Amino acid sequence: MRFVTVVLVLVAPLLCFACKSKKEAQADPKRETVKTQDILYSQLDITENFGDNLKLKADDWIKTSPLNATMENPESMGLPSLHADENKVYDVAVGLSKLREKISIPSDGVYCPICHIANIDINKLHTPCPKCKRKLLKFGWD
Ligand SMILES: [Zn+2]
Repeated sequence: MRFVTVVLVLVAPLLCFACKSKKEAQADPKRETVKTQDILYSQLDITENFGDNLKLKADDWIKTSPLNATMENPESMGLPSLHADENKVYDVAVGLSKLREKISIPSDGVYCPICHIANIDINKLHTPCPKCKRKLLKFGWD
């Protein structure tokens, strides 16, 4: 009986340590693959007010504003330069949308980063923009 107790006292901390380091190992890869800029921005545009999506119907489009017009050095935040042409802007937006598409957020809709319009209907993702015909990208409202 005494032997069993001694073994438990010796083994228990080892088990705990193994548990802890396994948990840390599982958490680490995620932490390393998410860059700072990905956390800050996963889209190029925003709408004017929080909750703008709540009053829209599936066929309503709302005007959006480009984020890069609101800051000094948008490139440092992973956003396109104010002088970037439409193709460059769209390329950056596609990259950000791909990241956002990996995360399921029920309220997400779609937008066109060139025409600066957004819609609440996620089923329109990758369908042609009604104005410029580029594929619509994933858009978060808040
Ligand atoms: Zn468009």
